[in-house]
Amino acid sequence: MPVNRRVTLAARPAGFPQESDFACDEVSSGSPGPGEVLVRVLWASVDPYQRGRMSEARSYAQPLEIGDVITSQSVGEVVESNDPRFSPAELVVGQLGWQEYAIARAGALRRIPPEVDPPSLALHALGATGFTAYFGLFDVGKPRAGDTVVVSAAAGAVGQIVGQLASIGGCRTVGIAGGPEKVRDLKELYGYDAAIDYKNDDVVAALRDERVDVYFDNVGGEISRAVQRRLTIGARIVICGQVSQYNAPKPEPSFHPGLLVVFRARMEGFLVSDYVHRFDEAARRLAAWLASGRINWREDVTEGLENAPRAFIGMLNGENRGKALVKVAERTT
Ligand code: NAP
Repeated sequence: MPVNRRVTLAARPAGFPQESDFACDEVSSGSPGPGEVLVRVLWASVDPYQRGRMSEARSYAQPLEIGDVITSQSVGEVVESNDPRFSPAELVVGQLGWQEYAIARAGALRRIPPEVDPPSLALHALGATGFTAYFGLFDVGKPRAGDTVVVSAAAGAVGQIVGQLASIGGCRTVGIAGGPEKVRDLKELYGYDAAIDYKNDDVVAALRDERVDVYFDNVGGEISRAVQRRLTIGARIVICGQVSQYNAPKPEPSFHPGLLVVFRARMEGFLVSDYVHRFDEAARRLAAWLASGRINWREDVTEGLENAPRAFIGMLNGENRGKALVKVAERTT
Protein backbone atom coordinates (compact mmCIF):
# COMPACT_ATOMS: atom_id res chain seq x y z
CA MET A 1 0.00 0.00 0.00
CA PRO A 2 1.44 3.40 -0.94
CA VAL A 3 2.35 6.02 1.66
CA ASN A 4 -0.20 8.84 1.74
CA ARG A 5 1.05 12.36 2.49
CA ARG A 6 -1.77 14.56 3.79
CA VAL A 7 -2.44 18.12 4.91
CA THR A 8 -4.59 18.19 8.05
CA LEU A 9 -6.17 20.77 10.34
CA ALA A 10 -3.81 21.38 13.29
CA ALA A 11 -5.78 24.20 14.93
CA ARG A 12 -8.96 26.18 14.25
CA PRO A 13 -7.87 29.54 12.79
CA ALA A 14 -8.60 32.54 14.97
CA GLY A 15 -9.35 35.23 12.39
CA PHE A 16 -7.05 35.05 9.38
CA PRO A 17 -5.56 31.52 8.98
CA GLN A 18 -1.84 30.95 9.66
CA GLU A 19 0.37 28.20 8.23
CA SER A 20 0.65 26.84 11.80
CA ASP A 21 -3.09 25.98 11.65
CA PHE A 22 -2.13 23.15 9.26
CA ALA A 23 0.02 20.04 9.61
CA CYS A 24 1.52 17.56 7.16
CA ASP A 25 1.70 13.84 7.98
CA GLU A 26 2.13 10.45 6.33
CA VAL A 27 -0.12 7.40 6.76
CA SER A 28 -0.81 4.29 4.73
CA SER A 29 -3.20 4.86 1.83
CA GLY A 30 -5.29 1.84 2.89
CA SER A 31 -7.12 -0.45 0.45
CA PRO A 32 -10.49 0.20 -1.17
CA GLY A 33 -13.42 -1.87 0.12
CA PRO A 34 -16.38 -3.11 -1.94
CA GLY A 35 -17.78 -0.32 -4.11
CA GLU A 36 -14.77 1.88 -3.38
CA VAL A 37 -11.96 3.29 -5.50
CA LEU A 38 -8.36 4.17 -4.60
CA VAL A 39 -7.38 7.43 -6.34
CA ARG A 40 -3.96 9.07 -6.71
CA VAL A 41 -4.51 12.83 -6.51
CA LEU A 42 -3.02 15.03 -9.25
CA TRP A 43 -4.67 18.41 -8.66
CA ALA A 44 -6.30 19.78 -5.49
CA SER A 45 -8.64 22.74 -5.34
CA VAL A 46 -8.15 25.76 -3.06
CA ASP A 47 -11.46 27.45 -2.18
CA PRO A 48 -12.88 30.08 0.18
CA TYR A 49 -15.50 27.64 1.55
CA GLN A 50 -12.70 25.62 3.17
CA ARG A 51 -12.35 28.46 5.69
CA GLY A 52 -15.90 27.73 6.89
CA ARG A 53 -15.11 24.05 7.38
CA MET A 54 -12.25 25.01 9.71
CA SER A 55 -14.63 26.82 12.02
CA GLU A 56 -17.11 25.34 14.49
CA ALA A 57 -19.78 27.89 13.57
CA ARG A 58 -23.08 26.45 12.31
CA SER A 59 -23.08 26.09 8.52
CA TYR A 60 -24.44 23.94 5.70
CA ALA A 61 -21.76 21.25 6.24
CA GLN A 62 -20.16 19.55 9.23
CA PRO A 63 -16.98 21.28 10.47
CA LEU A 64 -13.65 19.51 10.19
CA GLU A 65 -12.26 18.02 13.40
CA ILE A 66 -8.66 18.69 14.46
CA GLY A 67 -6.50 16.13 12.63
CA ASP A 68 -8.91 15.72 9.69
CA VAL A 69 -7.60 15.98 6.13
CA ILE A 70 -8.55 19.36 4.64
CA THR A 71 -11.61 18.76 2.52
CA SER A 72 -11.39 19.73 -1.17
CA GLN A 73 -12.45 18.79 -4.63
CA SER A 74 -9.52 17.06 -6.32
CA VAL A 75 -8.73 15.47 -9.65
CA GLY A 76 -6.89 12.14 -9.67
CA GLU A 77 -6.22 8.91 -11.49
CA VAL A 78 -7.76 5.62 -10.47
CA VAL A 79 -5.18 3.23 -9.00
CA GLU A 80 -7.48 0.39 -7.93
CA SER A 81 -11.23 -0.01 -8.35
CA ASN A 82 -13.66 -2.33 -6.60
CA ASP A 83 -16.55 -1.00 -8.63
CA PRO A 84 -17.39 -1.84 -12.26
CA ARG A 85 -17.94 1.86 -13.08
CA PHE A 86 -14.23 2.73 -12.87
CA SER A 87 -10.99 1.20 -14.16
CA PRO A 88 -7.34 1.91 -13.32
CA ALA A 89 -5.81 4.95 -15.06
CA GLU A 90 -9.15 6.70 -15.58
CA LEU A 91 -9.31 10.33 -14.47
CA VAL A 92 -11.91 11.28 -11.88
CA VAL A 93 -12.98 14.28 -9.83
CA GLY A 94 -14.50 14.18 -6.36
CA GLN A 95 -14.24 15.29 -2.77
CA LEU A 96 -10.80 13.71 -2.30
CA GLY A 97 -9.10 16.28 -0.07
CA TRP A 98 -5.60 17.67 0.30
CA GLN A 99 -3.75 14.37 0.19
CA GLU A 100 -1.81 12.19 -2.26
CA TYR A 101 -4.17 9.19 -2.15
CA ALA A 102 -7.86 8.97 -1.32
CA ILE A 103 -10.38 6.16 -1.03
CA ALA A 104 -13.78 7.22 -2.31
CA ARG A 105 -17.17 5.64 -2.88
CA ALA A 106 -17.53 5.08 -6.61
CA GLY A 107 -20.92 6.84 -6.58
CA ALA A 108 -19.30 10.02 -5.26
CA LEU A 109 -16.86 10.31 -8.19
CA ARG A 110 -17.36 11.82 -11.65
CA ARG A 111 -15.37 10.51 -14.61
CA ILE A 112 -13.43 13.21 -16.50
CA PRO A 113 -13.84 12.69 -20.24
CA PRO A 114 -10.71 13.08 -22.45
CA GLU A 115 -12.04 16.27 -24.05
CA VAL A 116 -11.72 18.00 -20.66
CA ASP A 117 -8.16 19.08 -21.38
CA PRO A 118 -6.33 20.01 -19.20
CA PRO A 119 -8.14 17.79 -16.65
CA SER A 120 -7.75 20.52 -13.99
CA LEU A 121 -10.65 22.24 -15.80
CA ALA A 122 -12.86 19.78 -13.92
CA LEU A 123 -12.03 21.82 -10.80
CA HIS A 124 -13.07 25.17 -12.25
CA ALA A 125 -14.52 26.22 -15.62
CA LEU A 126 -15.91 22.71 -16.22
CA GLY A 127 -16.41 21.89 -12.55
CA ALA A 128 -17.66 23.31 -9.28
CA THR A 129 -16.85 26.99 -9.79
CA GLY A 130 -18.10 26.97 -13.40
CA PHE A 131 -21.32 25.31 -12.24
CA THR A 132 -21.62 27.88 -9.45
CA ALA A 133 -21.38 30.69 -11.99
CA TYR A 134 -23.86 28.98 -14.33
CA PHE A 135 -26.63 28.25 -11.81
CA GLY A 136 -26.07 31.36 -9.73
CA LEU A 137 -26.29 33.66 -12.71
CA PHE A 138 -28.95 31.98 -14.84
CA ASP A 139 -31.21 30.39 -12.21
CA VAL A 140 -30.92 32.91 -9.39
CA GLY A 141 -29.90 36.13 -11.17
CA LYS A 142 -32.19 35.57 -14.18
CA PRO A 143 -30.44 38.13 -16.41
CA ARG A 144 -32.21 39.54 -19.46
CA ALA A 145 -30.45 40.81 -22.57
CA GLY A 146 -29.60 44.48 -22.05
CA ASP A 147 -29.30 44.14 -18.25
CA THR A 148 -26.20 45.34 -16.46
CA VAL A 149 -24.62 42.59 -14.36
CA VAL A 150 -22.12 43.63 -11.69
CA VAL A 151 -19.79 40.98 -10.27
CA SER A 152 -17.53 41.19 -7.20
CA ALA A 153 -14.31 39.08 -6.95
CA ALA A 154 -14.78 39.18 -10.72
CA ALA A 155 -11.30 37.91 -11.61
CA GLY A 156 -11.59 34.87 -9.34
CA ALA A 157 -12.65 31.34 -10.17
CA VAL A 158 -16.41 31.97 -10.07
CA GLY A 159 -16.29 35.62 -11.13
CA GLN A 160 -14.33 35.09 -14.34
CA ILE A 161 -17.02 32.71 -15.61
CA VAL A 162 -20.00 34.79 -14.42
CA GLY A 163 -18.92 37.80 -16.48
CA GLN A 164 -18.48 35.78 -19.64
CA LEU A 165 -21.82 34.00 -19.21
CA ALA A 166 -23.53 37.36 -18.72
CA SER A 167 -21.89 38.66 -21.92
CA ILE A 168 -23.10 35.56 -23.77
CA GLY A 169 -26.57 36.42 -22.46
CA GLY A 170 -26.37 39.89 -24.04
CA CYS A 171 -25.73 41.82 -20.81
CA ARG A 172 -23.40 44.70 -20.03
CA THR A 173 -20.82 43.47 -17.51
CA VAL A 174 -19.03 45.37 -14.77
CA GLY A 175 -16.35 43.53 -12.80
CA ILE A 176 -14.86 44.56 -9.46
CA ALA A 177 -11.50 43.12 -8.41
CA GLY A 178 -8.36 44.04 -6.49
CA GLY A 179 -5.34 45.46 -8.31
CA PRO A 180 -4.34 46.59 -11.82
CA GLU A 181 -3.34 43.11 -13.08
CA LYS A 182 -6.74 41.66 -12.25
CA VAL A 183 -8.48 44.64 -13.80
CA ARG A 184 -6.49 44.03 -16.98
CA ASP A 185 -7.63 40.38 -16.96
CA LEU A 186 -11.24 41.48 -16.48
CA LYS A 187 -11.11 43.51 -19.68
CA GLU A 188 -8.68 41.58 -21.87
CA LEU A 189 -9.30 37.98 -20.86
CA TYR A 190 -12.87 37.87 -19.59
CA GLY A 191 -14.38 40.62 -21.76
CA TYR A 192 -15.90 42.74 -18.99
CA ASP A 193 -17.27 46.00 -20.43
CA ALA A 194 -16.07 47.95 -17.38
CA ALA A 195 -13.63 47.04 -14.62
CA ILE A 196 -13.15 48.60 -11.20
CA ASP A 197 -10.05 48.18 -9.03
CA TYR A 198 -11.55 48.42 -5.56
CA LYS A 199 -8.12 48.65 -3.97
CA ASN A 200 -7.22 51.82 -5.89
CA ASP A 201 -10.49 53.29 -7.22
CA ASP A 202 -13.41 54.89 -5.42
CA VAL A 203 -16.04 52.19 -6.06
CA VAL A 204 -18.99 54.50 -5.32
CA ALA A 205 -17.70 57.05 -7.85
CA ALA A 206 -16.82 54.39 -10.43
CA LEU A 207 -20.38 53.05 -10.29
CA ARG A 208 -22.02 56.47 -10.47
CA ASP A 209 -23.19 56.06 -14.08
CA GLU A 210 -24.09 52.35 -13.82
CA ARG A 211 -27.48 50.77 -13.23
CA VAL A 212 -27.35 47.41 -11.49
CA ASP A 213 -29.98 44.96 -12.68
CA VAL A 214 -28.14 41.91 -11.35
CA TYR A 215 -25.47 41.94 -8.66
CA PHE A 216 -23.53 38.67 -8.37
CA ASP A 217 -21.99 39.02 -4.94
CA ASN A 218 -18.93 37.00 -4.00
CA VAL A 219 -17.55 39.28 -1.29
CA GLY A 220 -20.10 41.26 0.75
CA GLY A 221 -18.99 44.10 3.04
CA GLU A 222 -18.03 47.53 1.80
CA ILE A 223 -18.07 46.64 -1.93
CA SER A 224 -21.65 45.38 -1.70
CA ARG A 225 -22.73 48.48 0.19
CA ALA A 226 -21.36 50.57 -2.71
CA VAL A 227 -23.10 48.43 -5.36
CA GLN A 228 -26.51 48.47 -3.66
CA ARG A 229 -26.75 52.24 -4.16
CA ARG A 230 -27.09 51.71 -7.93
CA LEU A 231 -29.79 48.99 -7.92
CA THR A 232 -32.64 49.31 -10.41
CA ILE A 233 -36.27 48.53 -9.66
CA GLY A 234 -36.70 44.75 -9.70
CA ALA A 235 -32.95 44.11 -9.30
CA ARG A 236 -31.72 40.65 -8.36
CA ILE A 237 -28.90 40.23 -5.82
CA VAL A 238 -27.29 36.80 -6.04
CA ILE A 239 -25.56 35.92 -2.79
CA CYS A 240 -22.89 33.47 -3.90
CA GLY A 241 -20.42 34.14 -1.09
CA GLN A 242 -19.21 36.77 1.37
CA VAL A 243 -15.47 36.16 1.34
CA SER A 244 -14.64 39.57 2.87
CA GLN A 245 -16.37 38.38 6.03
CA TYR A 246 -14.97 34.84 6.42
CA ASN A 247 -12.11 35.85 8.73
CA ALA A 248 -13.90 38.69 10.47
CA PRO A 249 -14.42 38.19 14.22
CA LYS A 250 -17.82 39.88 13.87
CA PRO A 251 -19.23 39.80 10.30
CA GLU A 252 -20.84 43.10 9.30
CA PRO A 253 -24.17 43.38 7.41
CA SER A 254 -23.59 43.93 3.70
CA PHE A 255 -27.01 45.16 2.58
CA HIS A 256 -29.54 47.59 3.93
CA PRO A 257 -32.91 45.78 3.99
CA GLY A 258 -34.71 49.09 3.40
CA LEU A 259 -33.16 49.30 -0.05
CA LEU A 260 -34.81 46.01 -1.01
CA VAL A 261 -38.11 47.73 -0.37
CA VAL A 262 -37.18 50.89 -2.26
CA PHE A 263 -36.02 48.94 -5.32
CA ARG A 264 -38.46 46.00 -4.94
CA ALA A 265 -35.28 43.96 -5.24
CA ARG A 266 -34.86 40.24 -4.62
CA MET A 267 -31.85 38.92 -2.71
CA GLU A 268 -31.29 35.18 -2.75
CA GLY A 269 -28.51 32.88 -1.62
CA PHE A 270 -27.80 29.52 -3.22
CA LEU A 271 -25.47 26.54 -3.00
CA VAL A 272 -24.09 24.87 -6.11
CA SER A 273 -24.65 21.48 -4.44
CA ASP A 274 -28.42 22.08 -4.67
CA TYR A 275 -28.06 21.71 -8.45
CA VAL A 276 -26.19 18.39 -8.53
CA HIS A 277 -29.01 16.81 -10.56
CA ARG A 278 -28.29 19.40 -13.32
CA PHE A 279 -24.47 19.27 -13.35
CA ASP A 280 -24.45 17.39 -16.69
CA GLU A 281 -26.46 20.22 -18.29
CA ALA A 282 -24.02 22.86 -17.01
CA ALA A 283 -20.98 20.78 -18.01
CA ARG A 284 -22.33 20.29 -21.53
CA ARG A 285 -23.13 23.96 -22.11
CA LEU A 286 -19.93 25.29 -20.53
CA ALA A 287 -17.84 22.81 -22.56
CA ALA A 288 -19.47 24.02 -25.79
CA TRP A 289 -18.71 27.67 -24.92
CA LEU A 290 -15.10 26.79 -24.03
CA ALA A 291 -14.65 24.84 -27.25
CA SER A 292 -15.99 27.73 -29.34
CA GLY A 293 -13.67 30.21 -27.61
CA ARG A 294 -16.49 32.16 -25.94
CA ILE A 295 -15.18 31.41 -22.45
CA ASN A 296 -11.58 32.02 -21.35
CA TRP A 297 -10.09 30.93 -18.06
CA ARG A 298 -6.97 31.42 -15.98
CA GLU A 299 -5.45 29.10 -13.37
CA ASP A 300 -3.13 30.12 -10.55
CA VAL A 301 -1.09 27.00 -9.82
CA THR A 302 0.97 26.32 -6.68
CA GLU A 303 3.36 23.37 -6.96
CA GLY A 304 3.45 20.74 -4.20
CA LEU A 305 0.86 19.48 -1.73
CA GLU A 306 2.91 20.84 1.21
CA ASN A 307 2.34 24.35 -0.17
CA ALA A 308 -1.47 24.06 -0.13
CA PRO A 309 -1.85 26.06 3.14
CA ARG A 310 0.26 28.87 1.68
CA ALA A 311 -1.89 28.86 -1.47
CA PHE A 312 -5.05 28.97 0.65
CA ILE A 313 -3.86 31.90 2.76
CA GLY A 314 -2.71 33.68 -0.41
CA MET A 315 -6.11 33.15 -2.05
CA LEU A 316 -7.89 34.68 0.96
CA ASN A 317 -5.47 37.62 0.61
CA GLY A 318 -6.37 38.02 -3.07
CA GLU A 319 -2.98 36.82 -4.35
CA ASN A 320 -4.53 34.29 -6.78
CA ARG A 321 -4.76 35.51 -10.36
CA GLY A 322 -7.35 33.00 -11.58
CA LYS A 323 -8.57 29.74 -10.09
CA ALA A 324 -6.34 28.71 -7.17
CA LEU A 325 -5.08 25.14 -7.58
CA VAL A 326 -2.35 22.94 -6.14
CA LYS A 327 -0.51 20.58 -8.45
CA VAL A 328 0.07 17.48 -6.35
CA ALA A 329 1.56 15.01 -8.84
CA GLU A 330 2.15 14.28 -12.52
CA ARG A 331 -0.06 11.78 -14.30
CA THR A 332 1.62 8.38 -14.61
CA THR A 333 -0.42 7.03 -17.51
P1 NAP B 1 -11.73 33.45 -5.85
O1 NAP B 1 -12.58 34.60 -6.24
O2 NAP B 1 -10.96 32.74 -6.90
O3 NAP B 1 -10.74 33.85 -4.69
C1 NAP B 1 -11.18 34.64 -3.62
C2 NAP B 1 -11.04 36.13 -3.97
O4 NAP B 1 -11.81 36.88 -3.04
C3 NAP B 1 -9.64 36.69 -3.84
O5 NAP B 1 -8.84 36.43 -4.97
C4 NAP B 1 -9.91 38.17 -3.66
O6 NAP B 1 -9.97 38.79 -4.94
C5 NAP B 1 -11.33 38.20 -3.08
N1 NAP B 1 -11.30 38.74 -1.71
C6 NAP B 1 -10.73 38.23 -0.61
N2 NAP B 1 -10.91 39.03 0.45
C7 NAP B 1 -11.62 40.10 -0.01
C8 NAP B 1 -12.11 41.29 0.59
N3 NAP B 1 -11.93 41.53 1.89
N4 NAP B 1 -12.82 42.14 -0.18
C9 NAP B 1 -13.00 41.90 -1.49
N5 NAP B 1 -12.55 40.79 -2.13
C10 NAP B 1 -11.87 39.91 -1.38
O7 NAP B 1 -12.67 32.40 -5.09
P2 NAP B 1 -13.92 31.62 -5.70
O8 NAP B 1 -13.67 30.18 -5.50
O9 NAP B 1 -14.23 32.12 -7.04
O10 NAP B 1 -15.09 32.03 -4.70
C11 NAP B 1 -15.70 33.30 -4.83
C12 NAP B 1 -16.89 33.36 -3.88
O11 NAP B 1 -17.85 32.39 -4.27
C13 NAP B 1 -16.56 33.07 -2.43
O12 NAP B 1 -17.31 33.93 -1.61
C14 NAP B 1 -17.01 31.64 -2.25
O13 NAP B 1 -17.32 31.34 -0.91
C15 NAP B 1 -18.22 31.63 -3.15
N6 NAP B 1 -18.65 30.31 -3.65
C16 NAP B 1 -19.94 29.97 -3.43
C17 NAP B 1 -20.43 28.78 -3.92
C18 NAP B 1 -21.88 28.45 -3.70
O14 NAP B 1 -22.29 27.30 -3.95
N7 NAP B 1 -22.68 29.40 -3.26
C19 NAP B 1 -19.58 27.91 -4.62
C20 NAP B 1 -18.25 28.30 -4.85
C21 NAP B 1 -17.79 29.51 -4.36
P3 NAP B 1 -9.54 40.33 -5.12
O15 NAP B 1 -8.09 40.35 -5.39
O16 NAP B 1 -10.37 40.78 -6.25
O17 NAP B 1 -9.83 41.01 -3.81
